[in-house]
Amino acid sequence: MGRGLLAFVSIALVACALNPATGRKQLSFFSESYEIELGAEVDREFLTTSREYEDAGLHRYVAELGGRLAAVSERPDLPWTFRLADDEIVNAFALPGGRIYVTRGLLAHLNREAELAGVLGHEIGHVSARHAVNGLSRELAITAGVLAGLALFDVDDDAQAIAALGLGLLFLKFGRNQERQADELGVRYAERAGLDPWGVVDVLRVLEQVSRAQGDGWFPVWLSTHPDPEGRWQRLAAETGLDPAPRPGAVQPEVDAFLDRLDGLVYGPDPRHGVIRGNVYVHLRDRFQWTLPAGWEVERQGQMVAAGNAEQNGQVVLLPRLAATEREAAAAFAAEDGVRAGESWDENLGGLAARLVRFDGGLDGEEVRGLAAFVRTPARVVSVLGVSASDSWSRNQLELERSVRSIGRIADPQHRAAAPDRLAIVTLDRSMTVGEIARRYSPQEEPAVLALLNQVDVDAPLPAGRRVKTIRAGR
Ligand SMILES: [Zn+2]
Repeated sequence: MGRGLLAFVSIALVACALNPATGRKQLSFFSESYEIELGAEVDREFLTTSREYEDAGLHRYVAELGGRLAAVSERPDLPWTFRLADDEIVNAFALPGGRIYVTRGLLAHLNREAELAGVLGHEIGHVSARHAVNGLSRELAITAGVLAGLALFDVDDDAQAIAALGLGLLFLKFGRNQERQADELGVRYAERAGLDPWGVVDVLRVLEQVSRAQGDGWFPVWLSTHPDPEGRWQRLAAETGLDPAPRPGAVQPEVDAFLDRLDGLVYGPDPRHGVIRGNVYVHLRDRFQWTLPAGWEVERQGQMVAAGNAEQNGQVVLLPRLAATEREAAAAFAAEDGVRAGESWDENLGGLAARLVRFDGGLDGEEVRGLAAFVRTPARVVSVLGVSASDSWSRNQLELERSVRSIGRIADPQHRAAAPDRLAIVTLDRSMTVGEIARRYSPQEEPAVLALLNQVDVDAPLPAGRRVKTIRAGR
């Protein structure tokens, strides 16, 4: 994470900054320029495990809408950026300094511009009110051994630093009061920008439904990073005095224009950038496959894939590395704080050059043992770590090492070609229910999925001429 943060905290410049959005004074370790610098660092690390969605037109659209809202916020002069993350999970987040991401998974669930403005305004609210930096200040202040912890970040190119700080900051859980404040600021910005402020209320309702339909994993989706008090959107509507009628934005031309932008949007996992089939992870663009232990609980975050056993004492993790060679990546890993590297050797894994390292070390106060493979895929270096609690190593070793060694070139022809599913916007030629729409256009999908995407009831007939989202199967 760079020495900047370490040096900065060492000097311990505790500034009492005025919260620009509330006008109240708050304890903050971070000056605005440092906040911007920190955001840039976390952003760079975020993009080593995640990626931007490739669609210049959509990117421009999101950036322009975000820019309109940021311009009427309390911090218009921040270097705001608004980007679309190529991730099927439903989430949006704000990094310090005004870097805001919306996932393509979230975008797919929106049905009009005001809802997107609602998400962006809410995230701008978190930044305007300095929630992330204040949260980080608070965490630093209450964490004993802060400096010891930060030594981790000296390893600049280490993707593990993302897990330690990058993702930690990314998934910093906001408090309920911060959520309320961000909601209300979102309404404020939409009103100031001449957009329909009801979009904030509507999108909270959408996200609540989607989050409940999808459930929780290890890696938080919207609900877990933006806790949802009971009755949140109803309360917001009441407290901000929004007039429920008329709803100026909820008109068909606005919906149609917005849906047209989503036509062709990748939906769900994209096999070009990694997909899990059974217990095999296949990455078409980087041209490798990797077998996870069968039956383990799998979680993904961008380009990071992890699986854990039921006893929660064994884990395998795949991460991209910034190093140019497998040896360089192995050396960087061995130099990491808390890692005690043992025997290491070269090995060919499934047609790929690899450097393997046995190691043990301390992880959050727990002693662990493991085997790491640093592997040169046709596109870049990745690492696969098999890690076990030390006292469970003898039980886990066989399964962990088999998984670590299973990475290799794509062997199975069925994995070689695949295209992602995409949204397809269709105009109904007659009145239909979502069930009928699913049967005709997306027979591979449950009607409930289309109902959620279109924010309609499964049984309610939709009129002829209505434009709706369907899912076109990729292969
Ligand atoms: Zn939030």
